[in-house]
Amino acid sequence: MKWLMILSLWVTSASAQDTTWHNKKTEEWLLTNAIIVAGVGTPAEGPYDIHIKNGLIEGIKPSKKDNELRQTVTQQLDVDGSHVLPGFINMHAHMMYQRAGIDMAQPYQYYLWLASGITTIRDLGSDLEHSLAEKKKSAQGDIIAPRMFLYPGIWGNHTASDLDDKMKGLLKKDIDGFKFGMMDKATFIQASKTANKHNMPVANHVGVEDMNAWDNIQAGTTTIEHWYGIPDAALKGSQQFPGDMNYSNELHRFRYAGRLWREADADKLTQVLEAMAEKGVAWDPTLVIYEASRDLQRAVTSPWYKDYLHPGLEKFFQPSADAHGSFFWGWTSEDETHWKNNYQIWFKALQHFSQAGGTITTGEDGGYIYQLYGFGYLRELQLHQEAGFHPLDVIKHATANSAQVLGQGDRLGQVRVGHVADLVVVNGNPLADLQVLLPRNIKPITGDESTGGITWTIKAGTPYHAPTLLAAVRDMVKEARASNQINYLVD
Ligand SMILES: [Zn+2]
Repeated sequence: MKWLMILSLWVTSASAQDTTWHNKKTEEWLLTNAIIVAGVGTPAEGPYDIHIKNGLIEGIKPSKKDNELRQTVTQQLDVDGSHVLPGFINMHAHMMYQRAGIDMAQPYQYYLWLASGITTIRDLGSDLEHSLAEKKKSAQGDIIAPRMFLYPGIWGNHTASDLDDKMKGLLKKDIDGFKFGMMDKATFIQASKTANKHNMPVANHVGVEDMNAWDNIQAGTTTIEHWYGIPDAALKGSQQFPGDMNYSNELHRFRYAGRLWREADADKLTQVLEAMAEKGVAWDPTLVIYEASRDLQRAVTSPWYKDYLHPGLEKFFQPSADAHGSFFWGWTSEDETHWKNNYQIWFKALQHFSQAGGTITTGEDGGYIYQLYGFGYLRELQLHQEAGFHPLDVIKHATANSAQVLGQGDRLGQVRVGHVADLVVVNGNPLADLQVLLPRNIKPITGDESTGGITWTIKAGTPYHAPTLLAAVRDMVKEARASNQINYLVD
């Protein structure tokens, strides 16, 4: 007993805002007084002390002054009743190193993601060689960045031999899956066979092609990204496009996408959704990346732009026929109305899919259509709530579900003994209000000054202080704006 008392003198218990813990690598430590949200849909519980050792969750014990852990583990961070969630997984990310020809050096994206609670990203297409190097650095702890799973993109139609060469080349690299985009049926079937043969998961951005979700069901696609291929699979023929529709015109493309869900036959749609659920085709809807279509004003005036929007993105988002998704030069109130209705049918489809046993994940697709990394992801969570999901289920989409779909369900996505210590510490209760995940200086509408904001994002046992990361991003943006003389939005 005596030696325990002596040891306890050396205990250093830091308070939740002690920034000396930022990027502090500690082999063994204790996070005390946590209200835990496990990530699997079960209610919050606590307070608990979480014992972290070598990057893993070693144990979870009720918080008591005299518990054994507090006597023996000397390094302690007291989170004082904060909610603690599993690290978020961003299932639709693109690492970007420039935008609109303007350099956008990391760690800009990494810090935004981490500050938003994202500890893992699934990259669905980027500069592969660059990203492979970054993945390695992140895994070794050489950079402050989320964990990365790389699914390089294969787009469009290919001849059989071209596709074969391309996939063979990619399979030699340290990739984790494939992203297929807007392929014709023949290319898709061949690509899926090759991926299946090598046990590679596939994320598919189905466009308006001669293939649709029925082909995904047949091929055993891991995730359908976005949504198009699903209502497309429930049409009675082609979509009712006007005679002058040209899919290469981005304005046309996004305009008539807004009229797609309503053309889906309700019975056929039910069949598609249930078949997806049955065959284990998961759905990563990226609701947020279309939000500008239903409410352009909201997207353009996002309160985080002033401090956090990189000038490369500011430039890229301006209406332009050349930048993908920057189609707003002719956007009308009629388009917004169609899109508002589109969302209502989409939400119901997500509900039906989930009730049929389908797995839903969360991704943001930031860097396009007025969506900023991290902030877009947190908005995605709110949209899942709007789709009718309870916040516990929203968190499950973002954590346990996404981990499972990544093939990492046994080590990521839950606050659970034996899992990797990827955790988000929130100053407030996200189950009561998902807006508390936004940074304090963004001022959620609640106006409550005492709560709000992610305090810590912990990746593999290393804590990162979210406000410190955000301060660094503000500096990066200031500097990039000054050197590029771009300042569209500053008042
Ligand atoms: Zn994407």
